[in-house]
Amino acid sequence: MNQLLGKPGNGECADCGAADPEWASYTLGVFVCQSCSGLHRNIAQISKVKSLLLDPWSSSEVEFMDSAGNNAAKAKYEQIVPAFFYQPKHKDCMLLREQWIRAKYERKEFMSVERQEPYSAGYREGFLWKRGRDNGQYLSRKFILSEREGVLKYFNKHDAREPKAIMKINTVNATFQPTKIGTPHGLQITYLKDNSTRNVFVYHEDGREMVDWFNAIRAARFHYLQVAFPVSPLSVLLPMLTRNYAREGYMEKTGPKHTEGFKKRWFTLDDRRLMYFKDPLDAYARGEVFVGSKENGYSLLPELPANTQGYHWQFGITIVTPERNFLFACETEESQNDWMFEFQTVINRPMLPQEYAVEAYFKHKP
Ligand SMILES: [Zn+2]
Repeated sequence: MNQLLGKPGNGECADCGAADPEWASYTLGVFVCQSCSGLHRNIAQISKVKSLLLDPWSSSEVEFMDSAGNNAAKAKYEQIVPAFFYQPKHKDCMLLREQWIRAKYERKEFMSVERQEPYSAGYREGFLWKRGRDNGQYLSRKFILSEREGVLKYFNKHDAREPKAIMKINTVNATFQPTKIGTPHGLQITYLKDNSTRNVFVYHEDGREMVDWFNAIRAARFHYLQVAFPVSPLSVLLPMLTRNYAREGYMEKTGPKHTEGFKKRWFTLDDRRLMYFKDPLDAYARGEVFVGSKENGYSLLPELPANTQGYHWQFGITIVTPERNFLFACETEESQNDWMFEFQTVINRPMLPQEYAVEAYFKHKP
C-alpha cells in the first residue's frame, strides 16, 4: 500500500487535497485524509474505508487499489465539474467537504449535466431560515435567485409581492460561517447597499440545500462576471465568485479625535474593507475603513502613538491612511501579529483600477 501512495495523484487526499493521506476507500478506490475518511463513513452504502496503517489489506484489495487510485477516480467522478462549482480544500468547513463527497460519489452530479440543475439553472427559489435584524430570531423566508434579473431577493411574507431586500448579484458575496453563526450549515451573505456592507445570516436544515444555494450564487456571479469582464481568463474570474474573509475577531478602537475611550468591537477584513460591528451578527457595519496600498499613502505601525490613552488591551496597531490614522488595540501579541500580517498583505498589493473608485467613495463619504 505504501508503494501505491507514491503513484501520481495518490499523494494527496482525493477529496480535499491534504498531503499524505493515511486512509482509503476500498470500494471507490481512492486515498483520502483522516477527516474525509470520516465523511466517507456517512455514505457507507457506497464507500467503505480502512486505515492504510492500522487495518489489514487483502491482496485482492491491494490489486483493486492499484488498478484504481485518485487520478482514475477523478477522471470518472469529476468528469464535468462546472467551473463555478466550489471544490473545497482541507481547511474548508465540514459541510462543504461532506457535500462535495456526496455530490461526487453518492449523487454522481459530475457524470451527467442533468443532475446539476439545482445550481446551474439560473433560477432558484426556496425557503431559508433567516436571522432577524433586531431580535436575532431565525424565521423562514422565501428567497429567489434570478440570473436574468441579476438579483438575489427575499420576502418577509409568503404572499408578499414586494421583496424585503433586493441584492444585486454584482455585489453579493457568500461565505460559510458555522462557528460565528453557531450552526454547521450557517451561511453569511453580504451585499452592498449605497456602497455599505449589509449582512444576511441564513441556514437550511438540509446541508445539500444550503450548499446548492451557495453554488447557485456562484453560478450567477460567474455568468455576470463573464459578461462584465469578457477577456479575463478563468484564473482571474474564479477567485472573484465568492471570497472568505482574510481575518475576523475583536479589537478595541477609538474615534477620529483619538480622545474618546477605546471600545471593543468585532472586526472583519473583507478584501480592502475593514468593517466593525458591535455584535458579530449585526446586519450593518458600524463603520468601514478602506485599506489601500503603500503606493497610495497607506502604511502600518505595530504600536499606538506615545500619548494615546483610554485603551485596555496592550498590543496596538496604527493604520495610517492619507486622511487620518486609525488606532486599534489587540488583546494578545499573537492577535496583533495576525492582524498586522493581513493588513500588510493588503497594503503591499497594488490597487486595481476599480479599487480607486471604491477609495474615492470612502474619501467623500459624509
Ligand atoms: Zn481530505
